Amino acid sequence: MITPNTPPNSAAARILIVEDEPAIADTLAFALKRDGFLTECLSLGRDALAAAASRTHALIVLDVGLPDMSGFDVCRELRRFSEVPVIFLTARSDEVDRIVGLELGADDYVAKPFSPREVASRVRAILRRVQRPASNSNNTAPFQIDQDGARIAYHDTWLSLTRYEFGLLAALLDKPGRILSRAQLMERVWSDAEESLDRTVDAHVKTLRAKLKAVRDDDPIETHRGQGYSVRTRSA
Ligand code: CA
Repeated sequence: MITPNTPPNSAAARILIVEDEPAIADTLAFALKRDGFLTECLSLGRDALAAAASRTHALIVLDVGLPDMSGFDVCRELRRFSEVPVIFLTARSDEVDRIVGLELGADDYVAKPFSPREVASRVRAILRRVQRPASNSNNTAPFQIDQDGARIAYHDTWLSLTRYEFGLLAALLDKPGRILSRAQLMERVWSDAEESLDRTVDAHVKTLRAKLKAVRDDDPIETHRGQGYSVRTRSA
């Protein structure tokens, strides 16, 4: 049998489904598998957090109403150690308001009842976004991008990056040596660009530099006065 719509990268991405209603979890898992993803299903928030600590999931689909804790609390805990994309499953419209209002770091949400195909297509869209730097060759050395895990290694050390730091570095590594203006970086990394400022980019570049420096006393990010930033790799 031919697997249709294999995800963008050769290794199948693993999706964690956290949902206590077996019928919903099963239909979702079925739709995602049909799209070429690997799936893992859990029904408790604490189990989900333990599983997420393994950092082997490309994305988490998270029900808001779980038996042991709310999906909101799961997401809040999760964000202390992981930037893995999260799609919330909600049953009530007031939950949607909370997702939008609380800035929990969710990437998207889907209201029940939903079409499993719709969820699968949201999953694909989010993964395409986080996996955009499609540089499989060595031209990013000494950086190494793990697209499925949305993480970057520098001199063989995994960096602990916030979502914005990851986005910035990934955008720069997409075209090593190329200068990206603050506006370009803003557009690629921040979805709500209007409330962001040039200083926002600068602030995140600063924290990113500190993290790189902790690995190696070198500054591969170059500031181009009045123009923007570029990253220096071995090929650049
Ligand atoms: Ca539930």
